[in-house]
Amino acid sequence: MRLLVRNGTLVTEQGLIAADLLCADGRIRALVDRGEPQPADEHVDATGQLVFPGFIDPHVHSRDPGSTHKETFAHSTLGALCGGTTTVLEMPNAIPAVTDVATFESRRREHAGRAWVDFGLWGMALGPANLHEVVRLHRAGAVAVKFFWGYALDKETKGLVYDFAAAPPDSLLLPPENGEVLEMFREVASYGGVLAAHCEDRHILARSAELLGHPIETYDDLLLARPAVAEATSIAVGAQFARVTGCRFHVVHMASAAGARVVREARAAGAPVTAETCPQYLTLTDRDAERLGPAIKVYPPVRSQADQDALWAAVNDGTISSVGSDHAPHLVEEKMLGFGSAPAGGLGVETLAPLMVDAMARGRISATRLAEVLSTSTAKLYGLWPRKGTIRPGADADLTLVDPSGSCHISNDRMHALNPVTTWDGWNLRGRVTASVLGGAPAMKDSEPVGERRGRFVAADHDGRRT
Ligand SMILES: [Zn+2]
Repeated sequence: MRLLVRNGTLVTEQGLIAADLLCADGRIRALVDRGEPQPADEHVDATGQLVFPGFIDPHVHSRDPGSTHKETFAHSTLGALCGGTTTVLEMPNAIPAVTDVATFESRRREHAGRAWVDFGLWGMALGPANLHEVVRLHRAGAVAVKFFWGYALDKETKGLVYDFAAAPPDSLLLPPENGEVLEMFREVASYGGVLAAHCEDRHILARSAELLGHPIETYDDLLLARPAVAEATSIAVGAQFARVTGCRFHVVHMASAAGARVVREARAAGAPVTAETCPQYLTLTDRDAERLGPAIKVYPPVRSQADQDALWAAVNDGTISSVGSDHAPHLVEEKMLGFGSAPAGGLGVETLAPLMVDAMARGRISATRLAEVLSTSTAKLYGLWPRKGTIRPGADADLTLVDPSGSCHISNDRMHALNPVTTWDGWNLRGRVTASVLGGAPAMKDSEPVGERRGRFVAADHDGRRT
């Protein structure tokens, strides 16, 4: 099958190029002069549109298997597709968690028939409990290993336990202490992998909650109980470990100015540290808490306007190289339990691209930088480049088309999630994701799928590549 994308402006690693794009057999074949006749079975008209390398969401918790009352992999990947994302990287903390190769392989098989977009899989790093399994996850094609720093794991269900002080200690795998964390960095460095972490120092969190003196009732209480210094401290420790071991260390869902400062300094000093942030930190502030209620609750929490401004600066100066959604759905009833008791997390995979395109249309980020943080740099970080993340001959023909002068409206009615309640309900956005191409064929148009579901598993290949 040959597909010609006509009259668009391609967003390439060399900048914007006005050219047609010929795809064949699932791959990009050539950039050709606009209007030059090409033998093609199908055409996509991209007049007036930007043609991006297919967007990648590296941070998706589909709750599947284990919590499929909250979300499923079929729903999250359909949301991804309809929002303009063509590849998702699925986080390892479903139940059971992906802590060994047997679970990795079964997750890969289970998800293969359900995926609306291409997908990669994360592994989970526990410390001593699976220290020598992480290299096997890497060899099996895991994009990276995630370390849920400060969280315990239930021995039986292999599920994450957030508030583990109250749980019976013999039911848990307790979080590793820093000596063991350093050992884990050394192990991941030995095979050239990527160690990503949730960064919030658990001792600072525990003491901050005690000092509050009463249960969390308001959003201000929540911010006092989870101060930015907890994130910055944890990042600083990880950056030191990265520096001495050479391990590539990636900070997921970075949420504070203090965190961004530590990452910037570590990178300037030569430490192999990278960072991700998410649309919730780039579009919301603590002032939205009154309007949204506990729906705004995520970990780390959304903070001040100054934090948001610092994160945008970090996105634009390269301190942050990747933007992911941290799609982490819960039931609406669960989210209504109040700022203290509601679980952290919300929908995101379907709104990732529209919110970032809106930022581009408003001048907060350029088209070329948007291509980097939503595709190219993400693909490089997770061992998917140059198969994904670039518009060049030989790459997978995955494309996201954007009309920068269009507009779109986000509403719960149009979300494809199992529990379709989004923080951004009612927002009117500038710019519009109009269509996507997956594996050389049209896959989405006007926020609905085109054709069959045909997402494929993509194995990471980190060998010989560094970002
Ligand atoms: Zn997450």
